[in-house]
Amino acid sequence: MIGKLRITNSLTRTKEEFTPINPPHVGMYVCGPTVYSDVHLGNVRTFISFDVINRYLRFAGYKVRYVRNITDVGHLLDSGEDRISKKAKLENLEPMEIVQKYSNDFHEVMETFNTLKPDIEPLATGHLLEQIALTEELLKKGYAYESNGSVYFDVSKYNESHDYGKLSGRKIEDLLNQTRDLEGQEDKRNPLDFALWKKASPGHIMRWTTKWSDGFPGWHLECSVMSTKYLGEQFDIHGGGMDLKFPHHECEIAQSVGASELDPVKYWIHTNMLTVNGQKMSKSLGNSFLPWELITGDHEVLDRGYSPMTIRFFMLQSHYASTLDFSNEALNAALKGYTKLINGIRVLKEITFPEGEGQPDEKLASQIEKMCDNCYHAMNDDFNTALTIGHIFNLLKKVNAIHTGQLNIEDVGKDTFIRLKETIIRFTEEVLGLKQESTINGENMLHFLLHEYRIAKESKNYDKVDELRAKLKEEGIIVKDMKGGVDWAFEE
Ligand code: AMP
Ligand code: ZN
Repeated sequence: MIGKLRITNSLTRTKEEFTPINPPHVGMYVCGPTVYSDVHLGNVRTFISFDVINRYLRFAGYKVRYVRNITDVGHLLDSGEDRISKKAKLENLEPMEIVQKYSNDFHEVMETFNTLKPDIEPLATGHLLEQIALTEELLKKGYAYESNGSVYFDVSKYNESHDYGKLSGRKIEDLLNQTRDLEGQEDKRNPLDFALWKKASPGHIMRWTTKWSDGFPGWHLECSVMSTKYLGEQFDIHGGGMDLKFPHHECEIAQSVGASELDPVKYWIHTNMLTVNGQKMSKSLGNSFLPWELITGDHEVLDRGYSPMTIRFFMLQSHYASTLDFSNEALNAALKGYTKLINGIRVLKEITFPEGEGQPDEKLASQIEKMCDNCYHAMNDDFNTALTIGHIFNLLKKVNAIHTGQLNIEDVGKDTFIRLKETIIRFTEEVLGLKQESTINGENMLHFLLHEYRIAKESKNYDKVDELRAKLKEEGIIVKDMKGGVDWAFEE
């Protein structure tokens, strides 16, 4: 049992080609990024939250199949344009070059923040056949209709026998009152209907031929298809940021239930937003920070740069379901906390229990055992990383007391000391994914500056190229533009 989650052997196998994992196992699907631009820190918060969930489940002995997709098609702007196609036109690249470029960037960021890789990372474009098949199935079941080359999910029809809105607590009548307008969407019978297949306009690059039209799949469809394909028609955990609850996840449920009459997900987990002055961090609001800006400190509102592990620590200091506000003060506090943690662990790693066992103080030993148990209780309680960090610090107080001679290590007892040591180290490194960094800023900053320099050059953003070149020079690094790419050397 994992706290409130109570995960049991629930991975239901329904398809012949599906490869089962022996129990105890957990199937987890997390909506991945749409790869048309750099990921910002808000995105990073969500993926770090799921990384800790993945890590803790494994730590607790579960076998996890962690699927995190890449959305490389069908994520439309209000104008009806595909974000990836739009960026491809802007940068004069193939859409798949955009996809590759920003997937590479995403992976690099994920690695910088020490997240584990998913077990399967499927692409929407790699699952067109399955998306077409699901659309056909929904048409056959009467939950979808074709209109002028597009296919829409019929929300009202579905709602006659099911509950559209149950995940986000919305009522279809209220939703209808809010959106009566069909302007620009005349193909739909009802404004709430959403596209399963969309006929491509003449300029639309990413298109596939079907009997309905040359077109592309709707965004919600890919996640229904890929989660089902790799985790079964019913699986344990589905996650994403809160902003995906409606309509994305609501529509996923409708699609999956419409096709199989089975509720696809046992536990929905939604992370709360990283905010700036109380406002959601987002590209469109223009208040987003890129990871490298925070690492280098190269941003007008930042006093200084922060290392990736400081940022990770900052994020884990709050529970994933709470909002987290981004500020210099909060980051400075996180820097203090993280440094204290790492210093404590350095001291701890050097302490060994002396030869020859003395007699432990039973009361003290049992108190420390309970403090160790608390780390498990906190993670079992809906993955409460904030509480867990608090318990680790309580344990570290004992370590410091041993270190300064206030507490006699023999009073702790050998077994309890070993448990104390293991609990602190394993929870910090394996569960929270916080590792010691060789330097707080050096290597990572160089790595990021060079990475950005390459991107700026590729996209011919010469102002930024100059700016980065100057910044690198300040750090004693000379950038060299070679035939085969960018090289660098320490300034002599
Ligand atoms: P996107 O690439 O926009 O689909 O976002 C990828 C993931 O990041 C989704 O799960 C979003 O819900 C999540 N996300 C977007 N903005 C924020 C934010 N400010 N704080 C936390 N998560 C976010
Ligand atoms: Zn999704």
